[in-house]
Amino acid sequence: MKILVLNSGSSSLKFKLYEMPSKKVLAQGLVERIGEERSLIHLRYDGPTYESSEPVHDHRHALEILEKIFPRFGILPSFKELGGVGHRVVHGGESFTAPTLIDATVRSAIKALIPLAPLHNPANLMGIDAFTALAPETPQVAVFDTAFHQSMPPEAFRYALPQSWYTQRQVRRYGFHGTSHYYVSRELAKHLGKGDSGADCITLHLGNGASACAVRGGQSVETSMGLTPLEGLVMGTRSGDIDPAIVFYMQENGGLSSEEVDKALNKASGLLGLAGSNDMRSIQEKMNAGDAAAKLAFDVFVHRLVKYVGAYAAVLGRLDALVFTGGIGEHSAPVRRAVCERLGILGIALDPAANEAERSDARAIHAQGSAVDVWVIPTDEEGVIAEETYRLVTA
Ligand code: AMP
Repeated sequence: MKILVLNSGSSSLKFKLYEMPSKKVLAQGLVERIGEERSLIHLRYDGPTYESSEPVHDHRHALEILEKIFPRFGILPSFKELGGVGHRVVHGGESFTAPTLIDATVRSAIKALIPLAPLHNPANLMGIDAFTALAPETPQVAVFDTAFHQSMPPEAFRYALPQSWYTQRQVRRYGFHGTSHYYVSRELAKHLGKGDSGADCITLHLGNGASACAVRGGQSVETSMGLTPLEGLVMGTRSGDIDPAIVFYMQENGGLSSEEVDKALNKASGLLGLAGSNDMRSIQEKMNAGDAAAKLAFDVFVHRLVKYVGAYAAVLGRLDALVFTGGIGEHSAPVRRAVCERLGILGIALDPAANEAERSDARAIHAQGSAVDVWVIPTDEEGVIAEETYRLVTA
């Protein structure tokens, strides 16, 4: 059965077509700059890479183009051949604790959550609506970034704020990157022979967005992102944790509007704010060339991680492993080394050669005798969405 996975952004549409249950990837690609004069289409499949620049008006138009080019390359005769479509949906609030078949009620619930995810949920809905318009009979599934974290206990998800903010405005910690934290903690458990009971671990998803998760017995019990993805670790362009009073201070003394502060915290902070680049590779290169701002950005990034791992180790009480994933977690040996060197108090010791080796598979990188395993596990959010879609449409 063929399953299409869609990740719709405000001006982009990422897609990956799977043969299930083997999880063989038949095609994948991206339509970007949707709505602009020159949109870009990239498609990789079992043949020469296809690239084209043409106007793509909206998400529906993007899907119409895919439906035309898939048969041309022998990828898929028509969308009617799909067994199902899985959508990444960012915010599922408290309504969704698991992947869900989309019907009119589910669509309305995703829409009702727009105030909690004003940038993401509308884009996700555009993808759902666009596909519905083209192939209304094909079952569609929503897989939520927040769902894995719905197992957090109240002491982890509630903020110490007026109760009515929670009861009337749903202000609480939701957490994101749930599909990634779920996948890497599940893969870790399989590697450790704990596939049934689940592992006790701390998972660090370090990409342009970054979050940490404390997992007990395979379930999320604490995570660093909050009501929105802004809280927690230092990210490419997001600040992560700050004193909330900084917001009012910069409004009253820095002459910034609330929109400007919002934009600064989300788009001009993090690594970019500290060192002028949101790209960890460039931060590392500049740091090695003696750039003080890049060194500071790297140090602030690592320091925040060390604080979170220490705190989450205390929350969990016992720890099988620390897991790195995401672009930085999977590829930056310097970040992993700097973090683990400062975690001696947990009995963590890295194997330097294993840490430095450039590999793309799941691997252990701790030294023999380390009290806690350290793993690098490449994430596969689309693979989970394909699995869950297949599971629900064949149930
Ligand atoms: P993601 O959002 O998961 O694609 O991750 C993007 C981040 O991964 C960017 O900060 C990249 O600089 C970083 N990254 C990718 N490859 C490397 C690498 N070899 N070394 C350091 N950082 C990397």
